[in-house]
Amino acid sequence: MMGDMANPPTYPQPREDATNAPLIAGWREGRLMLQRCGDCGRAFFYPRPMCPHCWSEKLAWFEASGRGRIVAYSHVFKPHHPAFDAEAPIVLIEAALEEGALMLTRVVGEDRTNARSRMAISLVPMPEAARYPLPTFVLA
Ligand SMILES: [Zn+2]
Repeated sequence: MMGDMANPPTYPQPREDATNAPLIAGWREGRLMLQRCGDCGRAFFYPRPMCPHCWSEKLAWFEASGRGRIVAYSHVFKPHHPAFDAEAPIVLIEAALEEGALMLTRVVGEDRTNARSRMAISLVPMPEAARYPLPTFVLA
């Protein structure tokens, strides 16, 4: 595992509001929470008050499996925030989650630069998950 777990970097924190509170609260327990539309049935990320596919406001939260595949990836050698400097290159990915939602996130771990499109990923497990302010993945 990466970095010093006793002294995690001071990452910028997400701004919590009524719309994203279930996502942030779930991740504090190492769970990935997604929304699903009660009208079209599609799951999506990021949190919204309205379905991005059919504009329905009939939404419900559920716990996702935490598994998915990499769609696309990029190596970031110069992070925009100093908290990430020691972890460069950052491996930023678009993930297709098992539930059908697409998610912009990152892969961490010593083997992260092996990430390629179509590779399987899974959520960082607790207790390491607690160091990251938003859901983060490792190569499965
Ligand atoms: Zn919908």
